[in-house]
Amino acid sequence: MKQRHLLLALAIGASVISLSACKKEPAEPATSATPAAVEGETADQFIARVNDEYRKLYPEINSAQWLSSTYINDDSQMLAAKANERYLTQLNGWIEQARKFEGQKMSPDTARSIQLLKLMTAMPAPKDPAKLSELTQIATRMEGMYGSGSYCTGEGAAKQCRQLGELEDVLRSSRDYDQQLDAWQGWHSIARPMRKDYTRFTELVNEGAKEMGFADTGEMWRSGYDMTPVEIAAETDRLWGQVKPLYEQLHCYTRTKLEAQYGSDKGQVNGLLPAHLMGNMWQQDWGNLWDMLEPYKGVGSLDITSALEKEYQADYERELAKAGAGATIDKQFAAERAAQLDVAKQMTERAQDFYTSLGMPKLPESYWAKTQFIKPLDRDVVCHASAWDMNMAGDVRTKMCIKPNEEDFTTIYHELGHIYYDLAYNKQPPLFQGGANDGFHEAIGDTMVLAMTPKYLNSIGMVGTPQQGNEALINSQMRMALAKVSFLPFGLMIDRWRWGVFDGSIKPDHYNQAWWDLKAKYQGVAPVTPRGEDFFDPGAKYHVPGNTPYTRYFLSHILQFQFYKGLCDASGYKGPLYDCTFYGNKVAGQKFWAMLEKGSSQPWQATLKELTGSDKADASAVLEYFGPLQTWLKQQNEGKTCGWAAPSAAAPKPAADKGTAGKG
Ligand SMILES: [Zn+2]
Repeated sequence: MKQRHLLLALAIGASVISLSACKKEPAEPATSATPAAVEGETADQFIARVNDEYRKLYPEINSAQWLSSTYINDDSQMLAAKANERYLTQLNGWIEQARKFEGQKMSPDTARSIQLLKLMTAMPAPKDPAKLSELTQIATRMEGMYGSGSYCTGEGAAKQCRQLGELEDVLRSSRDYDQQLDAWQGWHSIARPMRKDYTRFTELVNEGAKEMGFADTGEMWRSGYDMTPVEIAAETDRLWGQVKPLYEQLHCYTRTKLEAQYGSDKGQVNGLLPAHLMGNMWQQDWGNLWDMLEPYKGVGSLDITSALEKEYQADYERELAKAGAGATIDKQFAAERAAQLDVAKQMTERAQDFYTSLGMPKLPESYWAKTQFIKPLDRDVVCHASAWDMNMAGDVRTKMCIKPNEEDFTTIYHELGHIYYDLAYNKQPPLFQGGANDGFHEAIGDTMVLAMTPKYLNSIGMVGTPQQGNEALINSQMRMALAKVSFLPFGLMIDRWRWGVFDGSIKPDHYNQAWWDLKAKYQGVAPVTPRGEDFFDPGAKYHVPGNTPYTRYFLSHILQFQFYKGLCDASGYKGPLYDCTFYGNKVAGQKFWAMLEKGSSQPWQATLKELTGSDKADASAVLEYFGPLQTWLKQQNEGKTCGWAAPSAAAPKPAADKGTAGKG
């Protein structure tokens, strides 16, 4: 993910206790920060001024947010909430001032900038300073709850508390049904207290969105796509329709394997996949089920995780040797930490190498000094991976808790995609420093991941000599499908839920039911125990308490295949799409960089056309890429009854499906 546009999602909240005392008079700092309109200013001058003021405000907010995400405590949260409050107040002021230019003559760039100005936050704040302050506090508090969420079991000396990373480890590695269920339920228990905050949060952002002229926050989110909110909702439906048959085949194959592993009573729930058995807390990436789903055992040797684990082990032994014979426990521990950091940096260097091989610059020195590579020991942090542009002037960082496994390895490539986008468009005016649309931002690094073919992985020493033949190909395609295809319906359902929450078709007393209805409808997954309204399962996914729009990830998973194909073409590659890597190809790199440099300065359709020749999002490259796998899956599933019936229940239909104007 990417934290930056930033300011947007961010919010931070001060501790409940310290704030409640001053809640009554939170207004002064906020109002005093409201920028004054300048008499006689033209629209062009206004935008120039906003760009200037934004650039100045930007580093402080990012520093506060960085601190509150890498050092969660009451103080850092208070500072972050205040900084966010200042930013949102300023933003409201700019948006208000922009109104007087409506209908006036102005340059196309200025007109676009004014449009973008209204979309600079995903958290539209009410003008009322007390409510604005309340909003930033809630937002910060929810993010803090997520970051410090911990599931404790046992009593006294046997008491054990585990955070998300440890609970994810269970899902990744354990194949014990009950252990996985415990880890899954344990993590979801941390979200229960968020329900009240989220309900209030929704009221407040909706009020802000209405004041800005949107029907609700969901409509505002759908307004950032150079088409109407109704059109983009319909676009996502259309794209999902293109890839759904492929997903259904993967779902069917996976269900068969789960039944083989856990028995037909436990391996499925009325034809749906049990949520806690998918190797991933949210069933958004099934790559951890490789042991169960690998089509041809051991063919193609794409076990990146064990290669990384071996690297870690070797590094650890080197560090231990440095400490000398008979090292104390302390020294052993220090060696462990040193090895973890070493391996995390090596993984990041490999990712950087992919980008520089295309002719892109090396990451600045400060990146290596200021990035959070591994989880600190002495404090709570938000481990959720993110990329940061701190000052629009080269201070870029990533924040991760890297472990030596394939998922984290590819996540680094993903996050560096954001960083290189930032670096490339830093020369644009601040209002144009964004993705062509937010799906583009998410797609850059993933395009590189698609180019991580067995040949590439072998060339960097991660896997052995690639094997030829259909079995190796199917294994390699399956590896990619478990990350990419399994994600698609998940990428869609999160905002289907939020759009419904924001437009009121999903009411607070149906939050959880609507969530699971959508999970069933799109993903075909289900919990194995009842998840009533005393739970708040959406809150157990970072982007809900973190308020990051999610449609971008769905779009990214379509766009990245289009980018990939475009770059393969640019590199002069001829052959099946899945076999293409443009690693090391400067022509492709140049074309990519040219796209990144454009930022959000023009409609995304134009930017897409420059790279791919088409101005329309289209999933046919996804289907072309996975052609061999889809054929193979159909053979495997022959004779099986595929698909599933979602318990249609009283699920309120999300607004997007209504397709009526105004509602989105
Ligand atoms: Zn991202």
